[in-house]
Amino acid sequence: MDKPDGHICFDVIRRGSREPLVVNNLLESAYATTDPNVVPYQLQTYIGQAVACQNTPVGSLCVVYQRDFVPDLQDIQLLTTLAMALSIEEERKRSEQALLDSYQLLEHRVDQRTADLKAANAQLHQEIVERKQAETALRQSEERFRNLIEQSQDGILLMDTDTCIIEWNPVLARITGITREEAVGQPFTLLQNNMVLEHRGTPENIERVSTTIKHYFTTKQADWDQLSFQSNVLRPDGTGCITQSIVFPIMGGEHPMLGCITRDITELKIAGEQAFQLELEQERSRILADFIRDASQEFSTPLSVIKTSTYLLTQIDDPEKQKQHMASLDKQVAHIQALIESMIDMARLDSDDDIPFQRFDINKLIDEIRVRITSIAEKKELALRCDLQANLPLIDGNHKSLHQAMIKLVENAFEFTPAGGSITLRTHQEKDTVVITVKDTGIGIHAADLDRIFERFYRVDPARSRRGAGLGLAIAKKIAENHLGHIDVESTPGEGSAFRLVLPISPG
Ligand code: ADP
Repeated sequence: MDKPDGHICFDVIRRGSREPLVVNNLLESAYATTDPNVVPYQLQTYIGQAVACQNTPVGSLCVVYQRDFVPDLQDIQLLTTLAMALSIEEERKRSEQALLDSYQLLEHRVDQRTADLKAANAQLHQEIVERKQAETALRQSEERFRNLIEQSQDGILLMDTDTCIIEWNPVLARITGITREEAVGQPFTLLQNNMVLEHRGTPENIERVSTTIKHYFTTKQADWDQLSFQSNVLRPDGTGCITQSIVFPIMGGEHPMLGCITRDITELKIAGEQAFQLELEQERSRILADFIRDASQEFSTPLSVIKTSTYLLTQIDDPEKQKQHMASLDKQVAHIQALIESMIDMARLDSDDDIPFQRFDINKLIDEIRVRITSIAEKKELALRCDLQANLPLIDGNHKSLHQAMIKLVENAFEFTPAGGSITLRTHQEKDTVVITVKDTGIGIHAADLDRIFERFYRVDPARSRRGAGLGLAIAKKIAENHLGHIDVESTPGEGSAFRLVLPISPG
């Protein structure tokens, strides 16, 4: 289409006036050159009116004539009326179109909304299904959890971060005699009236356990070993049992918790105690059997010597030889006597736990011994030395027993130290003990024998040990132990031995 500029109608539209435009003598006007219809159609008169839609000119209505004349008012009014009618029609059409458009838009929106709603509905449905599945899983897991707690063979207690009890199963109710209703909602320390706690043999305070648990929830650190304890439970009805409990964290959930599993170990304890007693009894029987075997061996040699000597006495007439056999008989009888005495001592020490103790100065006891053995040492050509620490702390002990122990050590020193050697008795304080040393320059003891010389009836070389039956050191050791002390020894073969009797200082 050609350009609108220059067209008379275009000017009418542009003018936008409600008044009609009348142009005469068109062929002579500027429109003859600008409007392409004027000259070809020999147009002379133009009457035009803008057609508006919603107050905006959208077109024009015109009447053109090939003669030049002044149109009368009626013609112009007719055109104006027609233009208005066109305007109204145009507006109606446009409204209709707008209505159509908005209807289509609405329909589109309804479709879209319906699709959205369908999708949302499907999602909602899916969510409901998933939620139901989750609820079922949760219910099942809760049921399993409850079954586990209800049917557990052990007592189960759950507590929150304030150590407030939130779960208490039937076994725990049976163990403690406290019902679930009485326990739930109460603090963990509720148990302190019924349970006497113990951790690795030492008394444990339930308040301390509670503090440790609370501390765990704030710091996430705990000494879990400390949270395992044994208890003596006393039920409200007066009955009781022994339990083993262990506290452990339950993390990961929305609310952190602590669990405590408690097991009734009364029967286990009784069985353990019985097994221990049985073992003890077996050990006693074994020791007794060993003792009888060793003792009978010790008796058999002197007895067979006695038997032979007695027989020979009846067979020989030589008074000198008879004298020799009588001497041998005396010696063997003395040996048996000494043996019996040692065995009686040993048996008494084994059974007598309650020997009376006095507080005394061990230096005095050593001095008494020194006086007693000085002449023996001279006879055996042994130098006797004494090195006693002044102001030695006192000890609590049985004077007679300690005297006996010291005599055993000194007798051995005499026996195993050749003439020309020396024996030193020394006392000194070492930390909270008093140490009494019997040191000799004798034959010494080989390392292999050092561990065994304190065993009953053990002798390094029975042939060389003329006197004892191997009970001397066992007796001395037992006496030291009865005084909560011990004996140790250092020895170098060929150079001598030093036996140390170590006793605790009197607490005052
Ligand atoms: P016994 O009463 O027969 O002497 P003990 O129990 O006193 O028995 O000693 C056990 C063994 O330890 C002795 O047979 C001896 O071999 C060894 N013994 C003990 N004291 C000494 C010592 N001072 N020097 C060397 N050996 C020793």
